[in-house]
Amino acid sequence: MENTYTISDLRNWSKVKQETETKITLGVIGNPVSHSLSPQMHNAALQELNLPQRYARFEIGEADFTDAVDLMKQHQFIGINVTIPHKELALSSASEVSSTARNANSVNTLLFESNKILGYSTDGAGFVNAIRQEFSMDIRDLRVLVLGAGGGAGRAIAVQCALERCERLVLANRSPEKLEALQLQLKEHFHSDKLAGPSDALRTIPLEEKAIENEISNVDLIVNATPLGMKRTDPSPLPRALLSAYHLVYDTVYSPGKTQLLEDAAAAGARTANGLSMLVHQGVLSFELWFGILPNAITMQQAITPATGI
Ligand code: NAP
Repeated sequence: MENTYTISDLRNWSKVKQETETKITLGVIGNPVSHSLSPQMHNAALQELNLPQRYARFEIGEADFTDAVDLMKQHQFIGINVTIPHKELALSSASEVSSTARNANSVNTLLFESNKILGYSTDGAGFVNAIRQEFSMDIRDLRVLVLGAGGGAGRAIAVQCALERCERLVLANRSPEKLEALQLQLKEHFHSDKLAGPSDALRTIPLEEKAIENEISNVDLIVNATPLGMKRTDPSPLPRALLSAYHLVYDTVYSPGKTQLLEDAAAAGARTANGLSMLVHQGVLSFELWFGILPNAITMQQAITPATGI
């Protein structure tokens, strides 16, 4: 298991570097971050490509986030991934932000250049590649329900589904008022002649049984983008009786490998996949931003598969 570094390590980075002879110039910042499989995944790709850099975890609280990013830039890091709870905060750390990240209001990848910090979101595009890998389906052919569409990952997925012109998009959130701005922003992508009108093709609902029941027979792909499932005792974000055999169910949670939602969906006869493939594909795209080369997704996936226990 790789070390997890802290803000005090970053403040004494020259000493840490000397003592450990580390070549760490990449990492993931989060809090907590101990569950992250990104170091195994990226280090496997770096080794395969004979690159000397190494990738580590950094457990950093919100109060120290900006400081940590500044220190990493000073210490000539190449770039970092950003995870819960800092994806929104990372927007303001970047001097320039890609349009996808701006639309999703979320940055999961920073690239340090000599005079600026560039911010990107690879979650949405990683999700689309994961759906293709898992279900051999393109998002544009699917009617999609996103549970937790008001969060960082949920917004990134919703924005990408809209850009890919999925057939229908239903956005559900515990706090539905968080979806108002997103709905306005995405509306222009939903003028479809396949359905009656824009209001049918794009809909926002509260994350409640009755509201989901009204929509569930008109969606193909159900995506969990809430953190429900990260703890083994977590309930499913939706009642098992709403799931049918024709559904495709994707849980962005990847640890544990089989959440309650995925167990219920498999029992209903639905096809299921956990968030491991999204983790790999968003990582592939981050790596490409840092090095300008596409790493081997299979090597990255193999490096983390045993850790999930599936
Ligand atoms: P976030 O920004 O904190 O958003 C959390 C979302 O979940 C919000 O919509 C929130 O609703 C909702 N939520 C939180 N607790 C809930 C509960 N108890 N019941 C119902 N809804 C709840 O988090 P995030 O960064 O988007 O991450 C969300 C999940 O995506 C995590 O499980 C993370 O592991 C996963 N993820 C996976 C990948 C991958 O590569 N596989 C990448 C990114 C994220 P409110 O708006 O009402 O608070």
